Order: sequence, then structure tokens, then C-alpha cells
Amino acid sequence: MTSVVTASDAVDPAPALDRAAARRFAREHVAPLAARFDQAGHIAQDTLDRIGAAGLWAPFLPVEYGGRGASMLTLGHIHEEVGRACSSVRSLLTVHGMVSWAVLRFGSPQQREHWLPRLATGAVLAAFCLSEPGAGSDAAGLTAQATRGPQGWVVDGHKKWITGGQRADLFLVFARTGSGIGAFLVPRGTPGVIVTPIDGMLGTRGSMLAEVRLDGAVAGPDALVGPDGFAAGMVMTGVLDLGRYSVAAGSVGILQACLDASARHAAQREVSSGRLRDLQLIQAKLSDMVTDTRAARLLYEEAGRLKDRGDAATLMATWVAKYFASVAAARHAAEAVQIHGALGCGPGHPVERLYRDAKVMEIIEGSNEIQRITIASDAYREAFHE
Ligand SMILES: Cc1cc2nc3c(=O)[nH]c(=O)nc-3n(C[C@H](O)[C@H](O)[C@H](O)COP(=O)(O)OP(=O)(O)OC[C@H]3O[C@@H](n4cnc5c(N)ncnc54)[C@H](O)[C@@H]3O)c2cc1C
Repeated sequence: MTSVVTASDAVDPAPALDRAAARRFAREHVAPLAARFDQAGHIAQDTLDRIGAAGLWAPFLPVEYGGRGASMLTLGHIHEEVGRACSSVRSLLTVHGMVSWAVLRFGSPQQREHWLPRLATGAVLAAFCLSEPGAGSDAAGLTAQATRGPQGWVVDGHKKWITGGQRADLFLVFARTGSGIGAFLVPRGTPGVIVTPIDGMLGTRGSMLAEVRLDGAVAGPDALVGPDGFAAGMVMTGVLDLGRYSVAAGSVGILQACLDASARHAAQREVSSGRLRDLQLIQAKLSDMVTDTRAARLLYEEAGRLKDRGDAATLMATWVAKYFASVAAARHAAEAVQIHGALGCGPGHPVERLYRDAKVMEIIEGSNEIQRITIASDAYREAFHE
């Protein structure tokens, strides 16, 4: 198992952050509350605090900023284990991690010094604001505007479907500048920032979605992440890649949870012709679930290892991992409901929630259609390269 304890941790040892630790945390502090979060439409503050105490908000941040210096592979394992327990909590980890990574990778020294220690502990929770009512898959069509005024950057726009938006303290907002698209750090308390909750989503219902309107929000002179006009290419690509990686791992968590529930139920349930576990049609469903879960895990782990090596091939590996894992999660969550029969349709049953959450995985961080277009274009590029 990957251990991310570094030499400096050895002086003041923190518990190792690895898959086993994440699994213990998720089993103890997340899984028992997942149905309640889903029904209430929010995650309890106590759970958010525990995530911070366990160092799980942005574990890849360097130790000097209060992070754990975790590898991307370990991050995937953490997001798989949390996603196995609750996709709403995993979604919050995803967007918080995306913003933290953007500040680490592209932020100014002042931005890093100010924000990263707060992001590492979860003292500041972050949300990622790209989508708009008229710009989802086609992010380049966004219309939010940022202009330079005497007090620094002023942002106007309407962001929609913002995970964690109801609770976040800091928004990373993508907006047009004169020279391209920029990414801006906008604290929640900024005058002109209006947050409206979105309740009753199909899936990840506990992830506290919101609309975020920016009406002349003065973000200040040091709000832009990376040079002006540079964000569209670098910040957006990098941040979305991390989000996709997290969703791939989280989808594997959903798959594993479907498998756990389905195998347990099939082993116990008696029907007129015997136990479900002995029926070949049920065995076929379970064997496909096992195979796809293992394949999806290998795909995101490959993408994680490529990230850790700094290999640009991780971008396509992540597209493939997220595409495969999200499709498999949606397919097998439907089969998990099928195996449970009416029980799986009942309110508050775990597979009913997994089914709704899995569908969302096919839409966020690049819909299936966009993924297929991107993966196919890479196939053409490769064919001509050879
Ligand atoms: C639960 C949830 C959480 C979210 N959290 C966030 C968040 O934190 N931050 C954020 O910025 N956004 C967030 N989103 C928004 C998400 O990123 C978008 O929903 C996604 O990018 C798709 O955009 P859209 O919904 O506007 O669909 P559209 O772009 O309108 O697409 C509709 C359908 O058309 C298909 N389509 C679109 N273009 C093409 C094409 N060129 N070829 C073929 N088919 C195409 C799509 O695949 C899709 O099936 C969230 C969404 C959900 C559901």
C-alpha cells in the first residue's frame, strides 16, 4: 500500500494516508450518514470538520502548506473509498481539490501563502464555478466577464450547478477578460456575490449545489490565478483533468458499493427456485460487475501513476478512465437495483441512492458524449502520427 509519510512527518508523525486509512474513515464517519445526507440535501458540519482533521480535503498539498504530500495515486484511492461510502461527500472533495490544485499549480506566491494552509485544513472550503445556464459542455461559450477597475478585478456573471456552492467560502470563477478566459478567486463574502441553493437534484443530493451570481463583485487586484489570458488553456485543462480523475475513482467506489450490496443480498435472498446466489442470470450480473470494477480501477490507477510521473499521457488516460468507470457505474447501479427487486426501489435503500448518483457521473466533468468525441479524436491523431 502506498505510504505518503515523508521525512518531515517522521519528526511529528501523522497517521499514514493511504487506501486503508481512507476506507476506515469512510466506513466509520461517512457511510453510516450517507442516506441522511442524501435526504437532508446537505453534509453535516461535523463530517466536514472530521474530513479536515483527517487531512482529506486536499491531501496532495505539500507538507509546507499543511497538506500531506500525498501522491495522485493515493488521492484516487481516497476518492474511491469516500465515493464508495457517499458520492455527495466525494463531490465536495473533488471540487475543493480542484481549486486547491489550481492555486498550488498556478497561484502567485501570495495566493499560495494565503489560501493553501486554509484549504489544506478545510478552514476555507472551495467551489469550482465554470458552468453557466448557457454554457456547460461548451465551456468556451461562457459569458461571465471580468474587467479591471480601480480596486482590481470586477466580475459579473451567472454560474450554475456549483457543487458545494451553498457552503463554500471561496469560489474559483471562470470569466472572460479582454484577452481570453481567466480564473478568479472570489471569496463568498464579496459584495455582489449572491448564492441561491439548488435542491432536489437527481443524484449527489447532499452536495449542496447552488447558483452563484456575481453582480459587480470586486474580487480585488490579486484575484486572477495565472497570467491574464492564460487560464483557458492551462488552468481549465489541468483543473478539469483532476476533476475527471476524481470522478473516475469515485465511480469505481460506486461500482464497489454496488458489488458489495448485490453479493450480500444475493447470498441471503430466497426465491421459489432457491437462493438468488445460485441463479446463473444473477451470477452473470455479478461477474460482469466484478470485471468492470477491476478494469475501471486499473484505468484510473494508470492515470494516477502517469500524473505522479508528470507524464502528459495522463490526460487521455484520465478521459478513458472516467468514460469507462462512469458508464460501468451507471450500468451496474441499475443491475444492483434489479438484483434487489422492490427492496432496491425503496426509499433510503443504498442501491437506490447509488443508482441516482451513478447517473450523475455520466454528465459531470465531461459528459459521455464529449468523452467519446475526445477519445475518438485521439485515436485519429494516433493513427496519423504512426
Ligand atoms: C450534480 C452536478 C454537479 C455539478 N457541479 C458542477 C460544478 O461544481 N461546477 C461547474 O462548473 N459545473 C458543475 N456541473 C455542471 C456540469 O459540468 C455540466 O452539467 C456538464 O458540463 C454538461 O453541461 P450541460 O448540463 O449544460 O449539458 P449540455 O452541454 O447542454 O449538454 C446536453 C447534452 O448534449 C450533449 N452534447 C453537448 N454538446 C455535444 C456535442 N458537441 N456533441 C454531442 N453531444 C453533445 C451532452 O453530452 C449532453 O448529453 C454539475 C452538474 C451536475 C449535474
